[in-house]
Amino acid sequence: FRDPAEPVDETELAIEGALRPASLAEFVGQQKVRGQLQLLLDAARLQQRPADHILLSGPPGLGKTTLAMIVAHESGRPLRLSSGPAIQHAGDLAALLSSLTPGEVLFIDEIHRMARSAEEMLYLAMEDFRIDIMVGKGAGATSIPLDLAPFTLVGATTRSGLLPNPLRDRFGFTGHLEFYEPHELERVIERSAVMLGVTVPATAREEIARRSRGTPRIANRLLRRVRDYAIVHGAGSAATTDDVHAALDLYDVDSIGLDRLDRAVLEALVKRFRGGPVGLSTLAVAVGEEPETIESVVEPYLVRIGFMGRTPRGRIATPPAYAHVGVQPVDSVLG
Ligand code: ADP
Repeated sequence: FRDPAEPVDETELAIEGALRPASLAEFVGQQKVRGQLQLLLDAARLQQRPADHILLSGPPGLGKTTLAMIVAHESGRPLRLSSGPAIQHAGDLAALLSSLTPGEVLFIDEIHRMARSAEEMLYLAMEDFRIDIMVGKGAGATSIPLDLAPFTLVGATTRSGLLPNPLRDRFGFTGHLEFYEPHELERVIERSAVMLGVTVPATAREEIARRSRGTPRIANRLLRRVRDYAIVHGAGSAATTDDVHAALDLYDVDSIGLDRLDRAVLEALVKRFRGGPVGLSTLAVAVGEEPETIESVVEPYLVRIGFMGRTPRGRIATPPAYAHVGVQPVDSVLG
């Protein structure tokens, strides 16, 4: 599973870290989730206990990791970072949980990808701050109970539906992150531009925001490419709207912000499968990607902008998708 917007090298990762807002007040947009989290944190603070467990769901790059960091920061607790794919055995989780200090915030990214055996251990840990460690094998196996320090689990997943019910039910709160509106992304860009030491006029910010797929991570990444372009071809630290157009065209970001993979999926859907319905795995094979990448990264945005529909029989293209790809819709398919 690959998030095409995920930064790949160390420098980019460090820059992404530096651009993260440190408090709920600095966190742009997501008003609903922000209010819900604020109440949760205030209540925990007044009662001097760790906050309830929090599940954050939504497509990559919308701020789940950032919110976990803010939860730790605002409650004055240390933060431990882990991820589902790193927890392949119950033992991995036992080692992690038993090393937590009282009140620590544990962030598990992609929590839906954790091993089944670890999931079951997590139920008890979340509920009673206790785990049972199995010692020995076969008839002589015994379980030794181990008390844990109270902690706050922040789990992140691209879709909460991927989680088994018993796990989902043990979170005190589930926050669904939505794609950002362009005016919210403009604020993210404005803030990041200051931190990157580049000036970007309002029209250029609007253009970047419009082409960022509703995603702050993408907005920040495009801003960095625009800054690169201005340094190499333009007037240094002052980027212009022309720089934005040139840089985004260079990186294959189209006029509405779709990238190569988005367009490959749309073209396959419209041309090869004549608008569908087509099953997820067939569509994934056609564009040479993992089904999970299509489902978690590509589809949510195409559905959000009304280019793709999900039906019980599979994915379908809508008239705006045909228009974007430049193909005349076939009436019988759409009817
Ligand atoms: P996720 O964990 O959902 O994949 P991250 O929390 O890693 O997303 O966010 C990706 C990038 O986008 C980070 O650099 C972060 O600074 C930025 N970002 C995300 N949400 C916001 C926001 N609401 N305001 C400002 N920046 C944000």
